[in-house]
Amino acid sequence: MSQHFTHQLAKKPLAAKKIVIANWKMHGNLKQNQALLTQYIAALSDLKQTKIVVCAPYPYLAQLQQMLQHTDIAWGAQNMAKNAEGAYTGEVSAAMLKDFGCEYVIIGHSERATAYCESDENIAQKFLQAKQHGLTPILCVGETLIEREAGVMELVIGKQLDTIIDLHGAAIFADSIISYEPIWAIGTGLAATPAQAQAMHKFIRNKIARLNQEAANRLKILYGGSVNPQNAVQLFVVSNIDGGLIGKCSLEAQAFEKICAAADSAI
Ligand code: PEP
Repeated sequence: MSQHFTHQLAKKPLAAKKIVIANWKMHGNLKQNQALLTQYIAALSDLKQTKIVVCAPYPYLAQLQQMLQHTDIAWGAQNMAKNAEGAYTGEVSAAMLKDFGCEYVIIGHSERATAYCESDENIAQKFLQAKQHGLTPILCVGETLIEREAGVMELVIGKQLDTIIDLHGAAIFADSIISYEPIWAIGTGLAATPAQAQAMHKFIRNKIARLNQEAANRLKILYGGSVNPQNAVQLFVVSNIDGGLIGKCSLEAQAFEKICAAADSAI
């Protein structure tokens, strides 16, 4: 077992009440990104208590830095290496993300965990790397449809969290983000109901709280999976849902703007 992460409690609390994160996945090009970011900047500057984050493919992080650095919109990557530095061809380190002004990084997205066989241990290592470099990790957890139908979703998500807790301790969740993303809801148009999301968010928060109450208080738990302007209104008013991770609808400026407005008015 590695040494537990010691969190400096005064450092960098996630101050915004809600957080909405755009996950562009493997979409975009320089021209399209410029148009989309220009619309984001125009539409999202009046939000009162909602933090907006854009997570783009690595090659566009410089473009995000250049276009967003004087705005309230933050940016980040969709993955990173589990190691700090070395002979890891094709990998991108936390320090490299920091060079391009990233403050956030998505970790363990199910599209990566499935396609690239990422283990919970790898994900836990990435989580620690992110924290050690002052990046806010956005840890994705979620169950498959078969697991939900079998009623074992809490066991599955509990195990995903336990790997990080066992290796690094529960304090590491202070000022971190967990995004509950049922795999059956991602990109399918079938979002979790507010009741399903609320139950899982409560389970996650209580699990961390039993080990470290302050970390649980300072953890943001987002929902992701087919969020759209209509269901966002119902989801974001639910207690324990601190915002959303948005895939498809983040590529459409108007839809994304409505989702962000729903988060901001849910406060
Ligand atoms: C995601 O990729 O994290 C996601 C939630 O995608 P979508 O909104 O398209 O379901």
